[in-house]
Order: sequence, then C-alpha cells, then structure tokens
Amino acid sequence: MAAQAPSAGEKCVFCDIVNQRSPAWVVFEDASTMAFLDIFPFTRGHLLVIPKRHGARLTDLPFEDQMALIRSLDEVCRRVERLTSDYNVALNAGAKAGQIVFHVHFHVIPRYGESNPFRATSRAPLTEPEARALIAELSAP
Ligand code: AMP
Ligand code: ZN
Repeated sequence: MAAQAPSAGEKCVFCDIVNQRSPAWVVFEDASTMAFLDIFPFTRGHLLVIPKRHGARLTDLPFEDQMALIRSLDEVCRRVERLTSDYNVALNAGAKAGQIVFHVHFHVIPRYGESNPFRATSRAPLTEPEARALIAELSAP
C-alpha cells in the first residue's frame, strides 16, 4: 500500500504527533485522521487536518484515506463555524506551493474580517491559555 511511513531516516513531525511522540492540541481524532491546532496560527482557531497514514501529498494516499480526510475536514469545518461563519481551506502541495511539512494536511483558517485574507500576516506562536480556550470550544462533538 502506498506511503505508509516516512522513508528511512526521514523525520516527520506530524507522524510524531500521530504516534504520540510529540504533543499537539487535538480537537478531533478518528481511526484514520486527526485535527489539531496550528502552533503558528494565521488567525484564532487555525487548524490542521491530517491523515494518520504518512503521505507527502493528497495524491500519495489511497482512496479510502482521501475520503476519510474529507469527512474529517467536513467535521472540523462544522466546528470552526462555532467561531465564525467564514474560513479558508488550503492545501499546499510541494515546496514551491509553500509546503513545509511533507505530511499531507488541510489548513482550516477562520476569518474574522481581515482586509485581504490571502496576504501573509504576522503569526504569533499559539499560547497555552488560547489553546485551552479553543480546545474547550472545538473539541466537543
Ligand atoms: P505547510 O506550509 O502547509 O507545510 O504548513 C505546515 C504548518 O504546520 C504550518 O502552519 C506550521 O505552523 C504547522 N506546524 C508545524 N509543526 C507543528 C506542530 N508540531 N504542531 C502544530 N502545527 C505545526
Ligand atoms: Zn508523516
């Protein structure tokens, strides 16, 4: 089966989160996917939705994992709608598209009225009080 794990010697920060070797502020998890808060959020509630199976990009995943990822994306979007009705969903595929972590992930970026949502804004690290507040708002089914 395709892309089960990073290749030998390749470290993957998101696989470490899946395998509980690194911490994350998890808002949603099922058998094959996870969603957690981005540690450098563009906006309040910026989330990442990932497959548990390693693959650099969407097209590396088997169809069932792609479908599971979309189902979880839908669930996460519904929860983000508790914060705001407006948000962007983004997937960066490849370095030239801005991908930094080569484990496929959707960004869900809540919008609260920024004048130009596509212009890069400054990103402050996620703080623990903010993460706790968001987990309280978003982790309930
Ligand atoms: P991309 O540019 O699409 O590869 O985005 C990767 C995202 O992962 C960035 O927004 C980072 O802030 C985020 N990120 C990197 N490491 C972690 C981590 N350990 N926990 C949560 N988010 C992370
Ligand atoms: Zn990975």
